[in-house]
Formats: sequence, C-alpha cells, structure tokens
Amino acid sequence: MTPDATLPDTIVTVRDLEKTFALKRQAGTPARTLRAVRQVSFDIARGETLGLVGESGSGKSTTGRMLVGLIPATSGRVRLFDEEITGTNAQQALARVRKRVQFVFQDPQGSLNPRMRIGDAIAEPIDVAGGRTRHDRQLRIQELLDTVGLPRSCGDRFPHEFSGGQRQRIGIARALALKPEFIVCDEPVSALDVSLQAQVVNLLIDLQEAFGLSYLFIAHDLAVVRNISHRVAVMYAGAIVEVAPRAALYATPKHPYTQTLLEAIPRPDPRHRLAANVRGELPSLLSPPTGCTFHTRCPHAFERCRNEVPQLKALAPGHEAACHLNEPMTAPPATASFMTAAPIAASLEDRLRD
Ligand code: SF4
Repeated sequence: MTPDATLPDTIVTVRDLEKTFALKRQAGTPARTLRAVRQVSFDIARGETLGLVGESGSGKSTTGRMLVGLIPATSGRVRLFDEEITGTNAQQALARVRKRVQFVFQDPQGSLNPRMRIGDAIAEPIDVAGGRTRHDRQLRIQELLDTVGLPRSCGDRFPHEFSGGQRQRIGIARALALKPEFIVCDEPVSALDVSLQAQVVNLLIDLQEAFGLSYLFIAHDLAVVRNISHRVAVMYAGAIVEVAPRAALYATPKHPYTQTLLEAIPRPDPRHRLAANVRGELPSLLSPPTGCTFHTRCPHAFERCRNEVPQLKALAPGHEAACHLNEPMTAPPATASFMTAAPIAASLEDRLRD
C-alpha cells in the first residue's frame, strides 16, 4: 500500500462544500431547509484512499454524490483533475472528466438491470462512450471479468444468478470499464457478510496497486475502512469533525465521537466488553443543536460546547479535529464528566495490537 501522507499529486480538491435541501412547505408552516453537508473540505491524492466514516444521515453519501456530479452542490467548490465541476460551467466540466471518475454503489443488485446479461451490463459504459469494435468490446469484457476474479462464462448470465459478493465484483468491473482514475465507493461492502467484505476490500486494494486508482471509500464503520484507507475523515451531522492519517486516527483519536466509534469496534478478545454505541440519536439536521452539534451525545460536553461551534484545528501533521477540549486554553469545569483523549488512545492502541 502507498505510504501515508506523502502523496503530493492532488487530483480531488473539495472546499467549503455545502448541500441544503428545501423541504415542502406544509399548510400553515414556514418553509424549512435541511443542511445535509456543511463546510466540507478535503483533498485526495493520486493513488490515495480517503476513508469517509459516519452514521447514517451524517452526510457522507451526499458528499460522495456531489463529487461525481450525481447531485449538484448548493455552494462550495469541487475540482477533479484540472476541471472545476461546480459553478457555472459544471456540466461541460463534468462531461470532460466523466470517463476518469466512477461510482460504486452500496447495492449492486439495485444498480444492475435484472434483464441484462452481465457482459452487457459491464460493457454498458463502453457502449455509451462508443468507438469500439464488437471484437474489442468482447475482449474488454473478458479482461474486466478476469480483473475482478470472475469466470469469463459469467458474461452470459443474469444478476440473480450471483451472490452479493459476486454482484459487487460485477459492479466494480463495470466501474473499471472506462479505466477511471478516481472512484467513489459508497458503502460498497455494507450489505455483505464479514468474509465477503474482506474479499471486496482486498480486491479494491489490489486494483489500486495495479492501476494507481484513488478512492473516496465511504462506510459507517471504522473497522471497515481501516485496511484500505491512507487517511480517514469522520463526519458528524453534515460536517467533518476529525481527519488524520490512518495510524494517527486509530492510535490517538482526538474527537470524542471518533473515540466512541473506535470503542464500538468488536475485537476477538472474549474479556473485552463491547462499548455501547454512541448514546442517543443523530440530531435532526432541520434544527441541529447549537454550538457543537455533538454536545447532546458527548460524554465530555461542558457549557462552552452548547454555545460555541468548535472549528477544525491542526493538532499534528495532517491531523485535525473540531473539539474545544483540544484547545490549550480550554479548562473543563470541575463538574464536567471529563476524560482526556490520552487514556482512551492508549487503550485503543493496546486493542489494535490484539
Ligand atoms: Fe464534546 Fe464539547 Fe468536544 Fe463537542 S466540543 S466533542 S461537545 S467536548
């Protein structure tokens, strides 16, 4: 795998990305706006995987879809390669990068036409792009089936004849058809059991090494993104609350939400009692909490958290977190249920060595 944090060739640049949805006005009530993504910024380098993790409703899939133009951004900038795909010339710019960017869906069954043979489904992007002879097209289908580890005879069969893991391989083969450079993988293993998850993640790692691909790998579970990611960003209520190189995030998490997600990862030690999931529900994005949006669930919240929005601050090279506890001048009140990150990080380090 490519070493962490030394990848200078940036191919994806996201700045202050926002997505709001206007909800239908009910009779006698004011119009309401749901702010699904708030001020999201990150870069992805060539050959790099950025893991994007958060609970359902955190805005991670919406972010991924804006990156490939599946839904338009409300504001902010997305630059893919040398093209600005947001703003006035978004459609023309998207058309120019279309072949270089692909998307792998969570539900491969839903993204495959049940009446289309697998070979034709894989070749569909090739057919849309045009310019290939029938013979070339057939050779490319066989090459793609080989690449994702499926027998060539699969090309004549239909989606219902395959398992979930095989269907996800077909989805990946289809995404590779036009030789992309950047792929958004939107929870590609969430619907699979654990052994199949590992197979698909390993396949994506192999493909990255073979073709120099870059990924935005979206998941709701920090365990899933650990093996594939060079860096990990954690989203909560539409915003990134922590981003760090993989080793730093798993060993020394700096945000209480990340710490709780890590504590909830199962481990093979029977003496270990699994920590409870993050307590409470993700707040409504129609009326998010004031101050830090995590304060309604945070075990360390104190008065300032209810009033002041914490900003992402650099704490180490490549490691940023948005929490008042990380600021040197913050003195938690004596009454707060406060616990520093250090002992949590130490226990996680022990655990990850298991
Ligand atoms: Fe918890 Fe306050 Fe930090 Fe938010 S700012 S994560 S509420 S301690």
